[in-house]
Amino acid sequence: MSDYQRPLLNEKMRLIRFRMRKENLRFADEIRLIPRTLVWVVAGLFVIAQAVGQILNRLEEGFGQPDLTQVQSNWALAGVITAAAIPMACIIFLIGYISQDARRRGMNAVLWTLLVIMLLPGWLFIGFVIYFLVREPLPYHCTQCGVLVSARFNYCPGCKYNLRPTCQQCQREVGEVDHYCPHCGSEVTPQPQRQAQA
Ligand SMILES: [Zn+2]
Ligand SMILES: [Zn+2]
Repeated sequence: MSDYQRPLLNEKMRLIRFRMRKENLRFADEIRLIPRTLVWVVAGLFVIAQAVGQILNRLEEGFGQPDLTQVQSNWALAGVITAAAIPMACIIFLIGYISQDARRRGMNAVLWTLLVIMLLPGWLFIGFVIYFLVREPLPYHCTQCGVLVSARFNYCPGCKYNLRPTCQQCQREVGEVDHYCPHCGSEVTPQPQRQAQA
């Protein structure tokens, strides 16, 4: 790996650690990201699939399973269609979620959605795994002034607050509320409060 790539990788790893530490997403909230229209389209397709299945089953009466009555055969087919529809619906909803989630994280939503879909036939869920591993952290509010900032920022554009404070002694990154550096133990000088505009 060249020296040029190393800082980029380090930054990516830092962002991944940042996201894992800061983000505490709840499933109930996340599921609302799935576009409502997509849910209706999938529900509609499911109803159509069931209807088509039942019509075909009735047309082929006598050819199918001779040991089942028509009613039993209808139910069996409905069960098979439902069993096939559930994993398909989950995949479609996951793709819908990624398209919205990528957008709110400032990522290229079209590109990621396409990537995940294109990897599906050959690589199954590897696209989803990659997405959830490397997705950007959500923007968050500056602790000082409340402006929405990206995890890539070093300083808040609203108040110049240092979003990535470093230890004066060893120059490594420390937490915003740390009193002592976790790496070398020296005291971390608190950041000056926001200067009043003169
Ligand atoms: Zn700020
Ligand atoms: Zn230190």
